[in-house]
Amino acid sequence: MTTDMDIALSAELDPIVDIAAGLGLDAQDIIPHGWTKAKVPIDVLDEAAADATEGRLILVTAMSPTPAGEGKTTTSIGLADGLNELARSKPEVGRAVLALREPSMGPVFGMKGGAAGGGYAQVVPMEDINLHFTGDFAAIAAANNLAVTMLDNHIHFGNDLDVDPRRIHIRRVVDLNDRALRGVVVGLGGLNGGVPREDAFDIVVASEVMAVFCLSTSLVDLKERLGRIVLAHSRGREPITVADIGAAGAMTALLRNALAPNLVQTLEHSPAFIHGGPFANIAHGCNSLLATKAGLALGDWVVTEAGFGADLGAEKFLDIKCRIAGIWPSAVVVVATLRALKYHGGVDVAEVNSPDVSAVLEGMGNLELHCRNLREIYGLTPVVCFNRFPTDTDEEMAAAIAHLDGLGVAAVESTHWADGGKGALALAEAVVDAAAGVDGEFRTIRDENRAEEPHDSSGTRPQRAVPRYSYELNEPLEDKIRTITQRIYQAKDVDLPTAVKRKLKQFTDEGYGDAPICIAKTQYSLSTDASLRGAPKDHIIAVKDVRLSAGAGFVVVIAGDIMTMPGLPKEPSALKIDVNEDGNITGLF
Ligand code: ADP
Ligand code: MG
Repeated sequence: MTTDMDIALSAELDPIVDIAAGLGLDAQDIIPHGWTKAKVPIDVLDEAAADATEGRLILVTAMSPTPAGEGKTTTSIGLADGLNELARSKPEVGRAVLALREPSMGPVFGMKGGAAGGGYAQVVPMEDINLHFTGDFAAIAAANNLAVTMLDNHIHFGNDLDVDPRRIHIRRVVDLNDRALRGVVVGLGGLNGGVPREDAFDIVVASEVMAVFCLSTSLVDLKERLGRIVLAHSRGREPITVADIGAAGAMTALLRNALAPNLVQTLEHSPAFIHGGPFANIAHGCNSLLATKAGLALGDWVVTEAGFGADLGAEKFLDIKCRIAGIWPSAVVVVATLRALKYHGGVDVAEVNSPDVSAVLEGMGNLELHCRNLREIYGLTPVVCFNRFPTDTDEEMAAAIAHLDGLGVAAVESTHWADGGKGALALAEAVVDAAAGVDGEFRTIRDENRAEEPHDSSGTRPQRAVPRYSYELNEPLEDKIRTITQRIYQAKDVDLPTAVKRKLKQFTDEGYGDAPICIAKTQYSLSTDASLRGAPKDHIIAVKDVRLSAGAGFVVVIAGDIMTMPGLPKEPSALKIDVNEDGNITGLF
């Protein structure tokens, strides 16, 4: 069997300077990390953004998935290659660029294996992208851990700020699934070993520093956001921030180079920015804002993925990230699979690969609800992409597409996993059509066209869809939470215990009442019960806790068991990963 690794290793990569040249960047504009990876400095991106009209943004999200994942990353890559393939016969389509998250090594060594796409829709060099890449996560871990170190040091040297050691919120981080670090005691080195306290580790991608990194618009903004992170509370219940302990400058110094987006390529040489990777539960789950902006400045199309199903991923992408960045998608691809439809139609996970047309139709409620939300709440045009798996049958596929046709929802089958960009041509065309419907006549903005279509004299951009959020920021925190659960999840109501209401009041009193909401719940159901499939209605969302991420600028609402330090399974993927005599990595997938 040909593995993802075999396909990736047999690919001929273009030198990264050529990929950059295709984006209009000179060799001296980039910071190469070897021959096939580079960072693009923020000032270069700012310059590019200043003299270009923004490209069109395409969000890739999904129906509620099965535990196997329905292929958002793979489909994003396939779509970018498909758009660039389409542009070969229709140059007016222009150039597509990807913006994706960097994989965390926790899942790489745990259950999931690589996270750089699959089959003939991959970003390369996948072995580097999956392992360390350009070192961004190490920099983020160091910056986070510096803040904790300085806090413990402050306590050791007299604790002038009166930090309450029982109210320290920041944790040390490591980019591995290391369950033994879920609870630890630090400071056991005697008189010179600091002050003992109970502590815990999180995985890097769960840290607020990661979320801050991914929402920052510049180095200055990064430093300000880092400074606002609440590390602890004092005995007098006053918040103690990164700025209070004086760590913001040094943390920013550690992150300075990391903040420049990473450029790589797909198997078919489409440019790909892969940068940052916050969790999709306690954080917003998207690549860095700067990577998305890089794509918008340099490409005609930016294809980007939001983690988890549309109820979480798309909601946070639109209500948090797009609002901060001042961007809005021209169309949304909703990835669906026949196996997920069957799963939501009531079929056991073990049976979802057996043909069953009626179960496929039975499961449509879930997919339809996600599409309806995107359309009616956000005013967006969904395009359903059926990511074709080898076990899918033509009969099931035809029934699924005909059903959506009947509802007036654009739906196409796509075989990018098996066929690369050529397999995603129908998807690419559907996306171009959907975007044209929203944005008006399609005009390419590349190269020679650039000068002719800059921002118009009033400084505004060409007509684009107007953002429409699911809630307004000036509503009270409690109302915003209720609005999301009722509008997006079809919940009857939200259950907020007294202690949670008290905390929400405290956040409001501290000046955070206008913050957006980041809900952490299971992605397998629209409810908080992972076993409730399909399109459940009138369920109650029970909130267990709320936390303030003051640096990221959102209030995290915890409605489920949220694991911020995963463990390895009994047979971790790490058992299969090796290096052969040629020095090539094997077993990464
Ligand atoms: P997500 O981003 O939604 O979590 P991924 O794109 O990472 O999903 O895909 C999850 C896994 O499924 C990956 O291992 C990928 O290679 C595999 N996969 C995706 N699409 C297909 C397909 N059409 N056929 C077979 N395997 C696929
Ligand atoms: Mg993914």
